[in-house]
Amino acid sequence: MRIGVFVCMCGNNIAATVDTEKVAEAARSMRDVYHAETIKYSCSDPGQRTIIDAVEKKKLTRVVLAACSPRMHETTFRRTVKAAGLNPFMFEMVNIREHVSWIHSDMEEATNKSIDLVAKGVARARKQTPLTSSTVPLTGRVLVVGGGIAGIQAALDIADSGLPVTLVERDSTIGGNMARLDKTFPTLDCSSCILTPRMVDVKNHENIELMVNAEVDRVRGYIGNFEVDIRKKATCVDEDKCTGCFKCEEKCPGKAPDEFNQGIGESKAISIPFPQAVPLVATLRKEYCRLFIRGKCSICQKVCPADAIDYEQEERIITEKYGAIVVATGYDLFDWTKVYPEYGGGRYPDVVTSLQYERMLSASGPTGGHVQRPSDGEEPRNVVFICCVGSRDESIGRPLCCSVGCMYAAKQAILTKEHIPDSQSYVFYIDIRAGSKGYEEFTRRAQKEFGAIYLRGRVGLIYPRDGRMVVMGTDTLSADQVEIEADLVVLVVGLNAAAGAGELARKLNISYDQYEFLSESHPKLRPVETNTGGIFLAGACQGPKDIPDSVAQASAAASKVIGLLSKGEMETSPLVAEVDQKKCIGCFKCQEVCPYQAIEEQTLPDGRLVAHVIESLCQGCGLCNVACPPSVIPLKGYTDDQLLAETLELLRR
Ligand SMILES: Cc1cc2nc3c(=O)[nH]c(=O)nc-3n(C[C@H](O)[C@H](O)[C@H](O)COP(=O)(O)OP(=O)(O)OC[C@H]3O[C@@H](n4cnc5c(N)ncnc54)[C@H](O)[C@@H]3O)c2cc1C
Repeated sequence: MRIGVFVCMCGNNIAATVDTEKVAEAARSMRDVYHAETIKYSCSDPGQRTIIDAVEKKKLTRVVLAACSPRMHETTFRRTVKAAGLNPFMFEMVNIREHVSWIHSDMEEATNKSIDLVAKGVARARKQTPLTSSTVPLTGRVLVVGGGIAGIQAALDIADSGLPVTLVERDSTIGGNMARLDKTFPTLDCSSCILTPRMVDVKNHENIELMVNAEVDRVRGYIGNFEVDIRKKATCVDEDKCTGCFKCEEKCPGKAPDEFNQGIGESKAISIPFPQAVPLVATLRKEYCRLFIRGKCSICQKVCPADAIDYEQEERIITEKYGAIVVATGYDLFDWTKVYPEYGGGRYPDVVTSLQYERMLSASGPTGGHVQRPSDGEEPRNVVFICCVGSRDESIGRPLCCSVGCMYAAKQAILTKEHIPDSQSYVFYIDIRAGSKGYEEFTRRAQKEFGAIYLRGRVGLIYPRDGRMVVMGTDTLSADQVEIEADLVVLVVGLNAAAGAGELARKLNISYDQYEFLSESHPKLRPVETNTGGIFLAGACQGPKDIPDSVAQASAAASKVIGLLSKGEMETSPLVAEVDQKKCIGCFKCQEVCPYQAIEEQTLPDGRLVAHVIESLCQGCGLCNVACPPSVIPLKGYTDDQLLAETLELLRR
């Protein structure tokens, strides 16, 4: 056995805190180590070449690399070791960056800790055995969850490549929040003019199956081979028969909240959210339907010319196989009402959210594009926008930036002037975040061309006085107290992940943050991947995002999916569980805990019933390893022998 140790300096990332030469020197005196040296950047091409050359010249049989996190570069270095002619699993990576140099400041301590970690790695390397991968076939079908602009873009890109896609949307139409917008910054093009053609493309695409009023219920399997139960809700309308004529909605006597219009105006118990909805199909909400509440009505059934109303319709579970999943579930506005009593907590009709204001501005909205005060229908003169409501506010535990608020406040101020030329907009802001292309110019236009008055500071109080809303704040630039009599106040409310995002994440076995935004695998290098192979993210479900970024991320996720599935089959990791069948007692505790259904029962020639791991299904999570009472399911690459060797080495030092 001939072990080579390489100590990466990572420029100054490691070398500024760890004496890498000293670590290499210490390694030279470790048992079985035949070569040790430092490398400035081991992941660079010359760095990898150094490792290959040393393996070849010194006839090394195992490699230990002290560098960064294996999550970052382990695959890279396995390839390097393979290129040097070794089995890629005769490689051990020791993390002296995240675990040492980035968290310690004392050089001597950091260096000693690095030496200990290298010794531990060498001990483990001694116990390594060559491992080989196998291949599994991939299901050439993709699930996209969420039909906002991000889900639409991802579905279209994937479908255009020839792969069949199922797009699952929980509302009765696709379009998401973009369908609620009037015009879009920074170009002020009409939102529905750019969105509607895409929605129609989805409906007409031969490779896309669109399922609205549907949600993911259960997910099993693993990358390339997911099995998903989709719950298709009962809507009392036969989608194949409904022609979208709106007759049922017109005649329906049952009133219901208008969610599409954010509670401005009312809807009906059976309705189509907006005229450009895709699919253009009515949905009946039983909780508001007189037939289901009082047992009497059925007007919709009588007036429907297509015989599409079916009160007996039942919820269905549809089970399908998919090779990859794109999650694009977007955002909801943060519920500001409970944490901002000083803004009225939702009691004042003339204090509205920015999304409600979008609907007021929109020609297809409940007021037909006529901006009016909800309290009396009058056209407002003074409109006050308050930025960062529920964003960048440590006092309520929400330090995050909503990333679109500054821009859409400027947009709405411009549109207010366009709608009501003698109006005056005021924008209270903390500071302007307008980083993307054309954004800074856009916010300047709002001020210079459209006369919006920007006041730097937070608003402390809003209260009603003589039919108007008094907005009291501080202008931190002049240090003056400001009081504005407003006819309408628009709260620029921050974003949260869509309701239920955390629950969906748990079903998919992916991570999420405290706002339930879904976590990417690496913020810079793997921004659309999740930590679960085969599951990708697109749009605002990953964090607040505008439309251009949502579309770009959706296309990125689509290209990852196409790249993954285009191979037809995939190499599996050999780091899987393996049952020692001689010692297995056949209790099948392992089978109970396995999340991948990777353990089957097998009868041996001597008649004993024992556990057997289906390697192509096993993901090496180690749960069976822990659950096994006699401890006879080692995980290849993480055997007791190997773990004990490194632990003993640490204890010995
Ligand atoms: C007031 C306001 C104005 C804005 N104006 C602009 C602008 O002018 N320009 C701009 O670039 N950006 C603007 N934005 C941002 C823009 O709305 C987002 O960038 C965009 O909507 C993100 O798209 P998305 O598809 O990621 O999410 P969404 O639009 O939120 O779509 C997500 C979809 O997923 C569905 N869904 C959620 N959960 C599930 C589930 N569990 N199962 C199935 N389906 C699910 C939802 O019903 C929805 O249809 C604005 C935002 C706000 C709040």
